[in-house]
Amino acid sequence: MKPNDSPLDLAIELIRVASISPRDEGCQALIGHFLQQLGFTVYSLRFGQVDNLYARLGERGKHFCFAGHTDVVTPGDVSRWRSPPFAAAIQDGLLIGRGANDMKGGVAAMLAAAARFLQQHPGFAEQNSLSFLITGDEEGSAVDGTVKVLEWLRQRREQLDYCLVGEPTCMQQLGDGLKIGRRGSLNAELIFHGKQGHVAYPHLADNPIHRAAPLLDRLARHRFDEGNDHFPPTTLQMTNLQAGDGSDNVIPGSLRVAFNFRFGTASSPETLLAQVRAILDQADPPLPYTLTSHLSGHPFQTEGGRLLQALQHSITEILGITPNPNTAGGTSDARFISLDCPQTLEFGLFSPTIHQIDERVPVVELERLTRVYTHLLHTLFPHP
Ligand SMILES: [Zn+2]
Repeated sequence: MKPNDSPLDLAIELIRVASISPRDEGCQALIGHFLQQLGFTVYSLRFGQVDNLYARLGERGKHFCFAGHTDVVTPGDVSRWRSPPFAAAIQDGLLIGRGANDMKGGVAAMLAAAARFLQQHPGFAEQNSLSFLITGDEEGSAVDGTVKVLEWLRQRREQLDYCLVGEPTCMQQLGDGLKIGRRGSLNAELIFHGKQGHVAYPHLADNPIHRAAPLLDRLARHRFDEGNDHFPPTTLQMTNLQAGDGSDNVIPGSLRVAFNFRFGTASSPETLLAQVRAILDQADPPLPYTLTSHLSGHPFQTEGGRLLQALQHSITEILGITPNPNTAGGTSDARFISLDCPQTLEFGLFSPTIHQIDERVPVVELERLTRVYTHLLHTLFPHP
């Protein structure tokens, strides 16, 4: 018996498992069982506290991978949901539940598309390969998830040629957006070292607030780059500022400021931090400081190529609209996958209600997304 290839039934089944990150609660076992029935070899990979699933069909030719996650964010105040967040109720043509868009709906569409494609193309696995990389740690720290599975794949010398991440990418209408990359994120902490003293004797102290203020102003107004074809100009946002201990007669000894960069491929962490230092070093007389940083995500940008052409073609054919390729939004696991597989794209359901109360997706869009994914597989792997 072939598995049920209805994306709605699959989405309901997955949403009913309350797999709040990083707990899996058996969600991936449902997927593993489904893929086994299609002939995939399924690997359950547990790293730390995180369950991951990798499944592959075929050993040769071009290798296409569907990537995604089964973990979801907490539902928040359950009493404010119009129906319980893990009930997967349908009201007015909408499937309501945590993960409906982000991204159990997308995972369901990928699974249904694989089932339909393999049914229509039974000889596929003799020439090419199809896989699923599903993590339970995308919404969490993303340490024991996709990164570790990619490491495991490298050890096995398994190479991905194309990867489609089914994260939500559309704003108003299914098909209006696909991600060809995402901005990187760099966090930095800056501590200015002054000299503590009594407010009545400022000549015996060195006030780091006064000294840092013009430098912070310059940092806030500095243009770090002009962006490029795919990325807007880099932005710096200060997020925390601290000095003093509450006393009104003490000049503080130090001032701490934290800030974040969202940056594209026009800059790198090194060029951004070099510009920060150049501004700080303008202080006259010099103001000692300590600057530390933490890179939380590289920017990534797809190479374009065959996958992008095929996806744009499938979206236009099935949905009748031309998608806008963009790099907006937060980070996703595509930032890791693209390091090993340059042809990595993101295309999926809707973004506006993700992580909100009453996350929901129109039922018809699950079917329409499944058709796009199926069409994409046929476009990349034509057969007589
Ligand atoms: Zn997601």
